[in-house]
Amino acid sequence: MKVKIDEEQCTGCGICSDTCPEIFELGDDDLAHVKNPNPTDMNCAKEAAESCPTEAIIIEE
Ligand code: SF4
Repeated sequence: MKVKIDEEQCTGCGICSDTCPEIFELGDDDLAHVKNPNPTDMNCAKEAAESCPTEAIIIEE
């Protein structure tokens, strides 16, 4: 599985980086970026994806 972010959907709210700081970070462009696309804790990535208000987090099976 792999984690990606649709930057056109991301508003930079920071929920994902607060939820999973080891997977997501906010960049200088105020958008979220994936630090670790293959995390060991994929459940955290799924939780962040469910919490993202714009459904910008994509988890590829
Ligand atoms: Fe962007 Fe969604 Fe993360 Fe908010 S939770 S920063 S909208 S990817």
